Amino acid sequence: MAKIVCVLYDDPVTGYPKTYARDDLPHLERYPDGQTLPTPRYIDFVPGTLLGSVSGELGLRKYLEGNGHQLVVTSSKDGANSVLDRELHDAEIVISQPFWPAYMTAERIARAPKLKMIVTAGIGSDHTDLQAAMERGITVAEVTYCNSNSVAEHVLMMILGLVRNYIPSYNWVMKGGWNIADCVARSYDLEGMQVGTVAAGRIGLRVLRLLKPFGVGLHYMDRHRLPESVEQELNLTHHTNLASLSKVCDVVTLNCPLHPETEHMINADTLKGFKRGAYLINTARGKLCDRDAIAAALESGQLAGYAGDVWFPQPAPADHPWRSMPHHGMTPHISGTSLSAQARYAAGTREILECYFEGRPIRNEYLIVQKGELAGVGAHSYSAGNATKGSEEAARYKKQ
Ligand code: NDP
Repeated sequence: MAKIVCVLYDDPVTGYPKTYARDDLPHLERYPDGQTLPTPRYIDFVPGTLLGSVSGELGLRKYLEGNGHQLVVTSSKDGANSVLDRELHDAEIVISQPFWPAYMTAERIARAPKLKMIVTAGIGSDHTDLQAAMERGITVAEVTYCNSNSVAEHVLMMILGLVRNYIPSYNWVMKGGWNIADCVARSYDLEGMQVGTVAAGRIGLRVLRLLKPFGVGLHYMDRHRLPESVEQELNLTHHTNLASLSKVCDVVTLNCPLHPETEHMINADTLKGFKRGAYLINTARGKLCDRDAIAAALESGQLAGYAGDVWFPQPAPADHPWRSMPHHGMTPHISGTSLSAQARYAAGTREILECYFEGRPIRNEYLIVQKGELAGVGAHSYSAGNATKGSEEAARYKKQ
């Protein structure tokens, strides 16, 4: 029987919810490209409840214990005395979410001799040293598409929030003010601006589609070109490199995975190629950007705003400069963990576990690494290597 260690974020400070703001979730059957939503044989949770925190347990306990397995659920993941480190020695499967990632470094993998599978309950497996996983023959899987549209909605919210200066204006209301000039001195219309996405995969393409009605010029940069019919439908301009895209765009949004090729793609040098006063939105991964270069670009005015929900490491320590830099619209990593998204990735995680334990193949679209090499979606979107360096910094986070 297997031991499964599941690392989840803490429950709300007010305790695990007893009631919810809404009674149901819309019923979806397929994602925009036709891929079906997760299809586990059964689920033991109520969609729309908080599944991603420790007490929610991704709805897995009944299923796993009912089949004789051991489930350990914890939020303690960083530092030498973490529960994760204590439990790793005989774990067969580690599950975590990118919002509160169990950084599966080569050292941790080496300390887990029985480890066979690492599951990302969500999308983005850069918190796992994929190179080390390949070398050990560990399967890495994620729930592709489960929250791509959730993130795209967050991107749209953040673009509008920055361009229209929403958060500072809201803050004036909260302070009892009516300071219209203070609010509008940095407020613009999005209409007519040029907006570009770095990567037009599931999230990037959705962002482009959501933006079309705003009357903006749409641009994308990707290694592979979108079908001509999509380029025509959205009137897209394709760029082969970041410099060409950033030179013409008022708003740039990052939607590519983090892997050694994309790490720090936005740095002091590449930022010089942006239009002065550009807005940058990053809901993909914090390490795509050089932390200090972003803060400096906001100070100097090279960037008019930066927003996103991804940091490095996670959780970000109290003195992380992105908490205090000017003109930012940061949230903690939440865009892909709405209650709607949680229902999908909890079901997807269950589907992956059912396949694993029943000896059925895991969907190709969920595979990142298998049999010692990049596989499935991973072979398309990732490159080999390790992007977890520096993750030990997460241990500096103190709960507020
Ligand atoms: P997809 O795999 O659908 O899309 C990724 C795209 O990135 C692909 O089109 C790929 O191109 C492209 N890409 C890869 N490398 C490069 C590169 N060097 N330059 C330009 N484009 C590149 O993934 P999703 O859209 O679903 O998700 C994207 C990322 O967003 C995830 O990897 C994750 O890091 C992040 N994410 C964040 C979430 C959050 O909660 N904030 C939730 C979900 C995802 P090609 O196909 O041509 O190889």
